Amino acid sequence: MEKKQAMNESETTARLWLKKRGVQIEDIAELVMFLQKKYHPDLNLKECIENVERVISKREVQNAILTGIQMDMLAEKGLLDEPLQSIIAVDESLYGVDEILAFSIVNVYGSIGFTNYGYIDKLKPGILKKLNDHSSGNCHTFLDDIVGAIAAAASSRLAHRADNE
Ligand SMILES: [Mg+2]
Repeated sequence: MEKKQAMNESETTARLWLKKRGVQIEDIAELVMFLQKKYHPDLNLKECIENVERVISKREVQNAILTGIQMDMLAEKGLLDEPLQSIIAVDESLYGVDEILAFSIVNVYGSIGFTNYGYIDKLKPGILKKLNDHSSGNCHTFLDDIVGAIAAAASSRLAHRADNE
C-alpha cells in the first residue's frame, strides 16, 4: 500500500514546532487519558498516543498548528502590529480567535469533540496548566487551545472507534 508516504513539509514542521514549544505527543496523550479513562477503564497510554498521532496526521490539523504557533512566536518576538501585538502577547480574555482556530481541529471527528474541548479547557490539566503559566515569558495564547483541541479530537476518535467495536 502506498499510504504511508514520507511526511510532507507541513506535517514535519507542525510536529517540530509542537516539540520546540514544549509539547510532546505524550503530553497530549495524557490529556486524552484524562478525558477517556472513566469511559474506558482499560485504556492505556499507547492507544492514546496512537489516536493523537492520527489526529496530527490530518492536513487541516497541521494547518491550525502551524498558524497558531506562528502567531505565538511572532507575538513573543514583538513582531506583530498593534493592537494585535498586545492582545496576543497578554492573552487578552476577550480575544477568542485562538479558540475559533482550535475549533477547526475539534471539528475533525464530530461534535462530541466540543464537549471534551470545553471540559478540558475549563479544568486545564497536565500540560495545559503549564502552557497557561504566564510567568514563563513565553506566549502560548494559541498553543494551549491547539493542544486542548488535539486531545479533544483524539478522544472523539477513540470514543467513536470503541463504539464500533
Ligand atoms: Mg488561548
